Amino acid sequence: MAGELVREWTAIQQFPAATQEKLVDLLGKLKNQDVNTLTILVMGKGGVGKSSTVNSIIGERVVTVSAFQAETPRPVMVSRSRSGFTLNIIDTPGLVEGGYVSDQVLDTIKSFLGRFLLNKTIDVLLYVDRLDTYRVDNLDKQIVKAITDSFGKEIWHKAMVVLTHAQLSPPDALSYEEFFSKRSESLLKCVRQGARISKKDAKNFGIPVALVENSGRCNKNEHDEKILPTGTPWIPNLVHIITDVSLNGKSGILVDQKLIEGPNANDRGKVFIPLILALQYFFVIKPIQKWIKDDVARESRPAWD
Ligand code: GDP
Ligand code: MG
Repeated sequence: MAGELVREWTAIQQFPAATQEKLVDLLGKLKNQDVNTLTILVMGKGGVGKSSTVNSIIGERVVTVSAFQAETPRPVMVSRSRSGFTLNIIDTPGLVEGGYVSDQVLDTIKSFLGRFLLNKTIDVLLYVDRLDTYRVDNLDKQIVKAITDSFGKEIWHKAMVVLTHAQLSPPDALSYEEFFSKRSESLLKCVRQGARISKKDAKNFGIPVALVENSGRCNKNEHDEKILPTGTPWIPNLVHIITDVSLNGKSGILVDQKLIEGPNANDRGKVFIPLILALQYFFVIKPIQKWIKDDVARESRPAWD
């Protein structure tokens, strides 16, 4: 599927008329700003709903969704065009493996981008997580840090947070709005820490949050549009925020050799070489020399001495 030809975005017709109208409006808004291509990169942990969200945006089952492990083994790009406008969405494997952020997955993503999007830009990053998670932990921060190290801090100028599983009843007698604001604030705080965005700089990185409910059991309004518990039809809302991020005046992330190879990818660890050599000298070579010297001293004495 990677690198497939750009297909006509026919599935847009699967959406209820009200949603279609809003989507066509948003695409028109992009075209008015001379934006003819929009490339969206989707990243996050495994099982949070990345692939489901890609399918929801396109309006058809284009990427594999799985409840258990063995999800998207490698990145997949889905490209759709509609009256001269092209939408590219890159679905990626979860960034966590065995409890750690996987550098290998990040490298796979970067080499995929190098192969299919060299000298093009990533216009929007969807950082996906679940709404129905109550805590953020150090691993979340590590994920953000790894993304920042790979793509540069600027990627957070083009980022939005997507919270799936949005159709929930909040715990602890919190209202939906209170729960949403607590959850998004704690995740955004984690993003700012992981990306080393200072308090002073936080205003400069206004990262929007969108709610998503991919389940087939999502409630609908009278126009048959899938809605959030607040009543907002979430697909047009999500695409609206994507459009806003893409038009926010900050430049997209250019996929160039530097990005693909990473900051001094080959130099990783090189700084430790002198230290390792020194340790080897004092803890390996020196003791062996001493041992040989002692041994020679002992040996050179005649046995009857
Ligand atoms: P990925 O690993 O991040 O790509 O996650 P998937 O899209 O494969 O989803 C993992 C599981 O969560 C699947 O069983 C999906 O059906 C389910 N899922 C994804 N998004 C939602 C959502 O918004 N609501 C609910 N209820 N389930 C979801
Ligand atoms: Mg997936």
